[in-house]
Amino acid sequence: MKIARRVTEVAPSLTLEITSLARKMKEQGGKIVNFAAGEPDSDTPEYIKKAAIEAIEQGFTKYTPAAGWPKLKEAISKKFKKENQLSYSPEQIVVSCGAKHALYNILQVLCEKEDEVIIASPYWVSYPEMVKLAGATAHIVQTQPQNQFKLDKRSLASAITKKTKAVILNSPANPTGSVYSQDELEEICALAVERNFYIISDEIYEKFIFDGKKHISCASLNEEIYRRTIVVNGVSKSYSMTGWRIGYLASPDEKIIQAIKKLQSHSTSNPCSISQKAAYQALEKTDKTQMQKMLKSFQERRDCMLRGLDEISGLSYIKPEGAFYVFCDISQLKLDSITFCRKLLEEAEIAAVPGEAFGRDDYIRLSFATSRNEIEEGLRRLKKWVTR
Ligand code: PMP
Ligand code: GLU
Repeated sequence: MKIARRVTEVAPSLTLEITSLARKMKEQGGKIVNFAAGEPDSDTPEYIKKAAIEAIEQGFTKYTPAAGWPKLKEAISKKFKKENQLSYSPEQIVVSCGAKHALYNILQVLCEKEDEVIIASPYWVSYPEMVKLAGATAHIVQTQPQNQFKLDKRSLASAITKKTKAVILNSPANPTGSVYSQDELEEICALAVERNFYIISDEIYEKFIFDGKKHISCASLNEEIYRRTIVVNGVSKSYSMTGWRIGYLASPDEKIIQAIKKLQSHSTSNPCSISQKAAYQALEKTDKTQMQKMLKSFQERRDCMLRGLDEISGLSYIKPEGAFYVFCDISQLKLDSITFCRKLLEEAEIAAVPGEAFGRDDYIRLSFATSRNEIEEGLRRLKKWVTR
């Protein structure tokens, strides 16, 4: 029996595969340094876990409305207003099973067979596959390290066709750590307004932004951009809640929201009620000081990683300004990224993600969402291995 082409044409998620392989090797006693992790290493904070335990004890264990628990949507609406200067009513918000699910839903409701979605390469592994799953075509635009791997007006303009339905923006970006400035966003988004296509803005790494830079949510730039933008965010990365599976999207376009609600009501129904209570607690009860502490620790880890990489000849990188990854150029070492990462894992017990997953076979992605000790140990091994 044949499996549907829609699925056979899609590649498995290399990021998730490598992360679970590294975890398995560690459980079996391997001294793996995990530079593959796409999630913060710390546990979910106690006050968030407690809210989930209380939810179970109080019987908050039934279906909620398919598009999310109204109180959580209110908290998200408040968050958008306070942190992003964006005004969305709870009815303009849908809570889903992770930001990944929110993105999947958006592409499913927007895309027809003949449509194209513009994606800047290097891209997060799932974007092109999700576009394919929606039956549309991913129009990949190459970006350059000299330009911090950012999409600019010229490269975007040259990719626009009559079939362009949307562009996916991701700032701070996975895997490059690039952060778009207000001017850069204004330029790109102006094109979406002019040529009439949607902007899907994935802001999942919003809290991981270094050197005093500020996150700008492109929908806040002006009314026309706001109308064309669907913003995606979630609690996975910001509150160490990757396993709880809560993400959300917002749009002022009622047709889009209604379509996504319909799709979700027939696919997953509501995201886990207990996780929704926990996410509510995360959004309502986390204070600025806690977030600043987390950010400080991630910036120190980034700096530690970069200092170590500076001492390894043959590897170069663009300094990440956000997220928790360094995208490393391995072209001088004359191995493709999959062979490089396989050997690195077998010979030095370091897990890293091949750049191939993000559209660049001459790069690897190193995550610094791990302890300082582990980063230092990993760099020692990496230096020895590369030198040899
Ligand atoms: N977007 C990007 C760029 C990501 O790296 C991730 C990480 N998984 C997601 C979306 C999805 O996040 P979530 O765990 O909330 O589904
Ligand atoms: N987003 C993370 C990463 O890029 C987690 C894995 C995934 O969801 O693909 O590693």
